[in-house]
Amino acid sequence: MAGLTLDNARELLESWARSTSWRRRGLAQKLEITSFDEKSAYTVRLETHVEARRIADHHRPYLGRPLDGPGDKPEEAADSELSLPTAEVKHPGDFVADIQDFAVPHTEVVRPCDQCKSTGRETCQSCRGEGLATCTTCWGRGQTTRDGTSSSCHDCNGSGKSRCSYCDGGGGVKCTACLGHLKLVHFDQLIVHFQSRTDERVIGETALPSSLVGHASTTTAYHEEGPRLEPIAGHGGGGPFRGSHGRVNHQVNAAVNELIEGERLADGEKIIKQRLSVESLPVYEATYRWGNGLRHCWIYGHGLTVHAPDYPVSRLRITGTVVAAMALLAATYGKFVGLY
Ligand SMILES: [Zn+2]
Ligand SMILES: [Zn+2]
Ligand SMILES: [Zn+2]
Repeated sequence: MAGLTLDNARELLESWARSTSWRRRGLAQKLEITSFDEKSAYTVRLETHVEARRIADHHRPYLGRPLDGPGDKPEEAADSELSLPTAEVKHPGDFVADIQDFAVPHTEVVRPCDQCKSTGRETCQSCRGEGLATCTTCWGRGQTTRDGTSSSCHDCNGSGKSRCSYCDGGGGVKCTACLGHLKLVHFDQLIVHFQSRTDERVIGETALPSSLVGHASTTTAYHEEGPRLEPIAGHGGGGPFRGSHGRVNHQVNAAVNELIEGERLADGEKIIKQRLSVESLPVYEATYRWGNGLRHCWIYGHGLTVHAPDYPVSRLRITGTVVAAMALLAATYGKFVGLY
């Protein structure tokens, strides 16, 4: 909507006033407008796709198969980095979150199972080792009722307890770590975590509330993506932006640099891609004289929305509505009086 004229603005203001209940009609054409400027607002958004790698201790039951231990590492691969299965890491797609894990070669070591102290068994969690569960026929009451007559539960002989089905009444189950094999193979696992995060800033010289700016329809004024974006020195405002033909508000470049420089990486994280977008929202700001003061109103967005919070109201229209409401009350009251 490049080039909204003052006359267009007056027309929009008038039709907006006519769509409201109280705002004064027939005023927009006569208002003394002291300034009328384009003050576009921008939303600057930086998305960062990061990858973090860490090594975790993992284990599986030891079934007696030959191991791939530290002694099996070839001499030339003394550097632990060389043996990481980095070639197997798959890129999940731009800005897609994902977690992948891989066993690290030459790290297998056998140790006794800690979880069961090498007994192969552990306490049944369902019955806490008692071997008994609540009878599901009488729900622990020991009694069942049929046709109003109570009798001892025949499934549990009145005890309210039945044999625990998880441990078959023994109170113990096979160790869930070693599955009864008493030993575990410990090995390093490479965990690769992909995450995407977004940071944004809303910029505008206008006093239009940022809550309105955030909800209005915008257009993309600039888009850039790359392995890692770098801050670029500003051009004093209005010039070509980051080498493109786009022109932006002079504060936009500062905000973009701030977002790029503010991207903090956690330990083990690295950036794999960044995406920058600048969305513009056309905003026209008018200042008009009313009484002894100056007031502002705005026309913004591609839908040409009018925001004029302190536009003059019509006392005549308010009075008219109040009189109508009182007349309605009087009529209603009168009707009641007539009835009773
Ligand atoms: Zn029972
Ligand atoms: Zn049990
Ligand atoms: Zn175990």
